Amino acid sequence: MRIYTHPEYLNHHVMDGHPERPERLSHVMNHLSQIGLTQDFELVQPQPIPPERILAAHSQSHVDFLTASKPEDGIVPLDPDTWMSPASLSAAELAAGAVFAGMDTVLNGAQRRVFCAVRPPGHHAERDSAMGFCLLNSVAIAAIAALDHADVERVAILDFDVHHGNGTVDICRNHPQILVCSSFQSPYYPNRLDNLVQPNIVNTPLAAGSSGSTFRAAVERDWLPALEAHQPDIVFVSAGFDAHVDDPLADLRLVEEDYRWVTQFIVAVANQYAQGRVVSTLEGGYDLDALARSVTAHIEALA
Ligand SMILES: [Zn+2]
Repeated sequence: MRIYTHPEYLNHHVMDGHPERPERLSHVMNHLSQIGLTQDFELVQPQPIPPERILAAHSQSHVDFLTASKPEDGIVPLDPDTWMSPASLSAAELAAGAVFAGMDTVLNGAQRRVFCAVRPPGHHAERDSAMGFCLLNSVAIAAIAALDHADVERVAILDFDVHHGNGTVDICRNHPQILVCSSFQSPYYPNRLDNLVQPNIVNTPLAAGSSGSTFRAAVERDWLPALEAHQPDIVFVSAGFDAHVDDPLADLRLVEEDYRWVTQFIVAVANQYAQGRVVSTLEGGYDLDALARSVTAHIEALA
């Protein structure tokens, strides 16, 4: 198993008090190192995503907007939630580059499982817009790129972040080869594109206060039959850990063992249909200790 990460991710700065802060990633990596997990895995620095791969998922006007918004110094808001500092676009290009490299690695058979320890996250970024802390939709960019691989006819993206993966749905909705399953607190941010009814989009809303048992039952009810029908050749994971009971942003009640369970569910699906190939990337998760423990459970179950 390989973990992609890069020091540039810590140079993406946001306003003081913002939950999506550099300490999230440094805390996770320090925790993995302290418990000895990083010794067991290969740590690799990705290259930036090639520009033409971005443009298969995002519009030229979105890329132009990000380029034009990049500040010379300090930080600027793109909306009240989403900020850019001088290194933010570079960090986002390296985050997408990690998922893209992970995809290439598992499809070439060098690894079966990859985790991308990245920021900024990506799943709220739509074709034409940054939002919800996200600039580029790393997982959608890599999923579309995977379809160019000779071995890949169908792809699945499984998103268990507490927020709906509206950006991933927006970008992938017209790609029937890509199945997108998203579980999320509802009603809740971002309240966009979360009630589409079409074969490749599976929305799993969860009421505020839902526990792990409700989450697990909903995943088995909604995701399993869709995955059995789709038979993906590679599985991507938008791994957000903000449905954790300790998370300050939302109001679900998952614990580390629920993340271990859903990861084991994903690995079992990948083993059945996708030669075990899973590329997981970090999305949300804003309580530092809960995030570090949940990522650990996820990585242990991936490995
Ligand atoms: Zn989230």
